[in-house]
Amino acid sequence: MGRGEVVNFARLREKMVQEQLLERGIRDSRVIGAFLKVPREKFVPKKMQVYAYEDGPLSIGYGQTISQPYMVALMTELLGLDKRDKVLEIGTGSGYQTAILAELAGEVYSVERIPELAERAQEVLQDLGYANVKIRVGDGTLGWDTYAPYDRIIVTAGAPKVPLPLIEQLAPGGRMVIPVGPRYHQVLKVLEKTSDGEVVEKEDIPCVFVPLIGAEGWQE
Ligand code: SAM
Repeated sequence: MGRGEVVNFARLREKMVQEQLLERGIRDSRVIGAFLKVPREKFVPKKMQVYAYEDGPLSIGYGQTISQPYMVALMTELLGLDKRDKVLEIGTGSGYQTAILAELAGEVYSVERIPELAERAQEVLQDLGYANVKIRVGDGTLGWDTYAPYDRIIVTAGAPKVPLPLIEQLAPGGRMVIPVGPRYHQVLKVLEKTSDGEVVEKEDIPCVFVPLIGAEGWQE
């Protein structure tokens, strides 16, 4: 891109939704609507903005990434959100997934272990006017007890196993989406807690996430 050239982000956003989401099978119209609305370029560092709609994860500093648009969409679709849901997100990162959740759910609680990322995400989300999001710095493998139980839980970093506190903080009838497996390749799992507290687990696609680091995750 030449100097002074203006990037049409709205156009790039529509193209991403068409080619990366719709053509790969994302069907939920509410999810598609949220992706058409949330300005992904605001969640990446300035010098990376022209790449914001590319088909992959991007570096956001501190060794962390904003996830690939398709992965964010797939996890969101698997969550099956309702406008009244209370959602817990582990791994705020850039805050992009948080914004998508805030579009589709009632309240979003998000935990991030790196203070600088949490602060930046908080600022962007506030600037964009999301009033239904609370962010906390801490070890998300322990969940966020204060607002539990949650109708939906999403973990956006790769876990060696499903952290027990997250299962405990999931409401009966609730659902959790989490990448689980060895450090460098995981499988996306969908867990459902029945009304009598039993947990039923299904596997979706293979994936690769940065590690979930904490007491119930990987060691640093
Ligand atoms: N969903 C994010 C986005 O759209 O930008 C991507 C998140 S990035 C792939 C994973 C994030 O999880 C990183 O920001 C990382 O610092 C965070 N993380 C790792 N372990 C964590 C833990 N125990 N608690 C909270 N956050 C954690």
